[in-house]
Amino acid sequence: MIEYTVIGNFKYRGQEYQVMIDDEKRYYFLKIHPDGSESYIDIHEYIRLINEFKYKEEPLLIEDNRKKKKRKLTPKIIIAGIILTLSLSFVSIMNSMAPTMDLHSHTSDYSNTSSYTVQIEEQDNDKAQKAIDELYRYIEQENQNFKVDTRVDGWNLIKIYDNSELDDVLGYSREEITYNDIINDINNNPHMSQKFKNLYIKLANNLREQYPNMDLRIWHYNLQTLKIVELSEMDMQLKAMSGTACAVYRQDENTIYTVEGYDYVQGTWDYQVIMHEMGHPIRSLVTHIGENQVKARFQSYSGHGTVIGEALNSLLTLRSYDPNEKDVAYQFQSNMVELMVNEMDNYTYQDFVEHNLTYFEQQLNEYNGNNDAVEIIGLIELQYNDYHNKDFEIDEAQFHKVYDYIANMYYGNHLNPNMSAEEAIKVRDTFIDKLTFDVPEEYKVSIEHLNEYFETYCNSIGLQLNGYSR
Ligand SMILES: [Zn+2]
Repeated sequence: MIEYTVIGNFKYRGQEYQVMIDDEKRYYFLKIHPDGSESYIDIHEYIRLINEFKYKEEPLLIEDNRKKKKRKLTPKIIIAGIILTLSLSFVSIMNSMAPTMDLHSHTSDYSNTSSYTVQIEEQDNDKAQKAIDELYRYIEQENQNFKVDTRVDGWNLIKIYDNSELDDVLGYSREEITYNDIINDINNNPHMSQKFKNLYIKLANNLREQYPNMDLRIWHYNLQTLKIVELSEMDMQLKAMSGTACAVYRQDENTIYTVEGYDYVQGTWDYQVIMHEMGHPIRSLVTHIGENQVKARFQSYSGHGTVIGEALNSLLTLRSYDPNEKDVAYQFQSNMVELMVNEMDNYTYQDFVEHNLTYFEQQLNEYNGNNDAVEIIGLIELQYNDYHNKDFEIDEAQFHKVYDYIANMYYGNHLNPNMSAEEAIKVRDTFIDKLTFDVPEEYKVSIEHLNEYFETYCNSIGLQLNGYSR
């Protein structure tokens, strides 16, 4: 039986429903009748609702640790009058095809279980092809020197891989946009209140101090239309599709949604959340080519990077105003990413703004003199998914490789053979504190293993621990 987090009740076209979400952020609905009783919905309702509620972005949201309401039920849906038990893959198929599905011209593939048949035409391919055609037409007509090496992976998404491509995509060079322009953009933006303008200007000034030459073009572009909207807690939950979201940046709408009534005092979690969300438009671009909305996003070639990107985004904004705060969004991933970035002499958070995540992997490889970064980043992503999906079972020992990799970077700069055992132990303890700070128990980080690796490392550089006990 699947456990769902109850998001809340809502009315759609006069009918009341309850919406829930499973651990993989897939949605499920129950119909609520005027007498309070519940029933399953039919496939037409399902497609309509999933269309309304489908979360169109990677989850750019921050969850706090408030207790979630959970309920257990067997997900079912009614197809042609027959109640069908939903398999997870079915939900997933429905999620992916819903946006282009036309009820009148399609029939279902589940003919063996009901008389209602759907054949999924290759609509997403058509759409992708249309976007590619549009792009090439645009390139031919508008700019013969349009050299962006890019591709559209369905859904009008153009991936850009480096800020050098922005010259062509945006049509202006990085030197043309200064922090003064950004502050003007913020002041002139008609879609955010003075409260948010003040916060955003503060962020701009903080970043100016640390990264005076940062590429500000995407930020400038987004600020022309960026909205910051305060919602009631209930509307926020529906918007973010999470019972615990405090704020979310919806890239497709270029809008930051946040819960109304917060003052955002520096040093509080709310402040960190709004800074995190304000960080996204600095780097995530939504633009138009011809008729098509096009999202340009710094991806990695390997496809990794959602969670690493969230961690880097958190650190970019948090470290712009607080060098010491340990409490951070995407806590464990941020702990790991910060430990690595702090040791690297070839990567800063400015690089995160200006390059894709493959660049981060390349810099890691260069710094460490090996080719392990893609695997390490992939493991960190996998570990995050493992934590968020109870259907996954992954042996904790698989992640030892990640800890060793990060420890090796840290010890490389902080341990040397001439240290006393006491000094070395202190370095180890600082490392373990930073790595494991406020990490949820479910990650089952093995301190035993971290200690073992420390001893192995000391041995390898000839640092004598002289039987110093753990
Ligand atoms: Zn985010």
